[in-house]
Amino acid sequence: MEYARLARTYQRLEETSARLKLIEELAGLFRDTPKALLRKVVYLCQGKIAPDFAGVEIGLAEKLAARAVAEAAAVAEEKVQSALRRRGDLGSVAEELLAERGARRSHLTVEEVFSHLEAIAQAAGKGAQTQKITALAELLRRATPLEARYLVRTVTGKLRLGVGDASILDALAEVYAGGRANRVPLERAYNICSDLGLVAETLARGGISAVERMEVRPGNPVRPMLAQRLGTAEEILAKLGGRCAVEYKYDGERVQAHRLDGRILLFSRRLENITEQFPDAVELLQTGLRPKRAILEAEIVAVDPDTGELRPFQELMQRRRKYGIEEAAQRIPVGLFCFDLLYGEEGDLTRRPYLERRRALERAIKPSERLQLATWKLVASAEELEAFFEQAIADGCEGVLCKSVAEDAAYQAGARGWLWIKHKREYRTELQDTLDLVVVGAFYGRGRRRGTYGALLVAAYDPEADRFPTFCKVGSGFSDEDLVELPRRLRPYEVSRRPARVDSRMEPDVWFEPAVVLEVVGAEITLSPVHTVAWGRAREGAGLALRFPRFTGRYRDDKRPEDATTVDEIWEMYRRARGRAVRVAESEG
Ligand code: AMP
Repeated sequence: MEYARLARTYQRLEETSARLKLIEELAGLFRDTPKALLRKVVYLCQGKIAPDFAGVEIGLAEKLAARAVAEAAAVAEEKVQSALRRRGDLGSVAEELLAERGARRSHLTVEEVFSHLEAIAQAAGKGAQTQKITALAELLRRATPLEARYLVRTVTGKLRLGVGDASILDALAEVYAGGRANRVPLERAYNICSDLGLVAETLARGGISAVERMEVRPGNPVRPMLAQRLGTAEEILAKLGGRCAVEYKYDGERVQAHRLDGRILLFSRRLENITEQFPDAVELLQTGLRPKRAILEAEIVAVDPDTGELRPFQELMQRRRKYGIEEAAQRIPVGLFCFDLLYGEEGDLTRRPYLERRRALERAIKPSERLQLATWKLVASAEELEAFFEQAIADGCEGVLCKSVAEDAAYQAGARGWLWIKHKREYRTELQDTLDLVVVGAFYGRGRRRGTYGALLVAAYDPEADRFPTFCKVGSGFSDEDLVELPRRLRPYEVSRRPARVDSRMEPDVWFEPAVVLEVVGAEITLSPVHTVAWGRAREGAGLALRFPRFTGRYRDDKRPEDATTVDEIWEMYRRARGRAVRVAESEG
């Protein structure tokens, strides 16, 4: 298959800001792709050559890529650099310079491009830089100008087509599963293996039934199951059928530990491989985990080395570092509190009910001082639940997680359903609770903030529509360091137009591809004529907005944009707050 076919699709994807059109374009591409190539084409559409968790980075520094562009276009490096200063995008520069060199017929195939990209990613050690530049220059020399645009963006990690994984799944369903309505089994498969290429290949080869038969496998991170939230013990019990399991909610970082081939791998909630960061946690599991192949979930928490008491989340964050890992592990030791087993001696457990998984977890762990099972209890009354909650708070936890003990309470990878419900202290006072919102735009600052941003336009996530509706403009809570830091963090995601998945009636000075998640607090949720969260749900022609939003200082790097607070969660908070207001008014009246 010719790479030119892919480049043309990229171009059309880039030009559209309508999600349905994106899917149509992708479906057209997948239809034209031979089955044996589909896996690679899917990765390329994601701007990658392997699933994220594999840790294969093409990521060629722009400076090196610029050298390859100069080589291929046979111009001086300075010319590339000055064009880059003018245009701000090396892909467009490559396109322009190669076009000046005169037209050519392309013969690049997808296979060739892919294997060159692999070579670029894999080159290591002495002479690696030169190898990478040579490999890219070779591709560019044979590329048409349009192909060059996308090759350069791919190797520098800046493809940014505005295509989310959900759009790719929709397109695959369109071509191979009889329509978008049949996306659900594909989603499940993706959620349990985190490898879109693998799902595509399985689907193309064995049809939807092969996809349905896919199971979790140690080595492939599973998208975590998430919890809904409710404010009172009564509501929780009513939702869970009168009885449930309650577990301590530890305030640390979620990890998914995989054991295979004698190794332990640790994945973050965002499915990044964080094994290197926690050698002590790896050690704990090497000795304390019985099954030779396993997938286990735990909260990793900083513990006081002297007293064994739990330490706050902020201390654990100091363990997220590249250097001085051993020293940090000595200074800030961690404990693991295990709460689920997705794979064990019994094989795939994700379709088994909670109680069965918990029993399997108990068999799988040899507990020690720093490797423990999450403290839990079965409860059947609000009083018992409340008492357990108070005990959790007293023991340094954030609250509790209430889990369904129904026969069909399976592990729902990637879903925020009602089988798990969290209950935190803050919910009692209105909107003390924090929201995790995605930055989608910014307004330039004035006065003291000249040269940086004055406010950020932030959005929630709507998983059904796979869109990011705006929720508020955040201008306060930023320290001087944040004001320096923010442009640096956000610049890589800057795009010239509203990204297709962003739902906004406001026009900020700068748009960003949804990527950076911030923790925000606010005073209350109100109706809004401009913000698009839950548009039309409370009132026609109005959405919801957060009043008096303030950045808490916490960057949620552990969350993907799709892990942001959802529209339904916000709707629920709004509805409950209003319910309360009505009750207060009635009792006062
Ligand atoms: P939240 O981040 O507020 O949505 O709360 C859910 C998170 O609580 C999970 O992703 C875990 O990181 C964490 N957590 C702590 N203890 C537990 C537990 N016993 N069961 C499930 N999740 C837990």
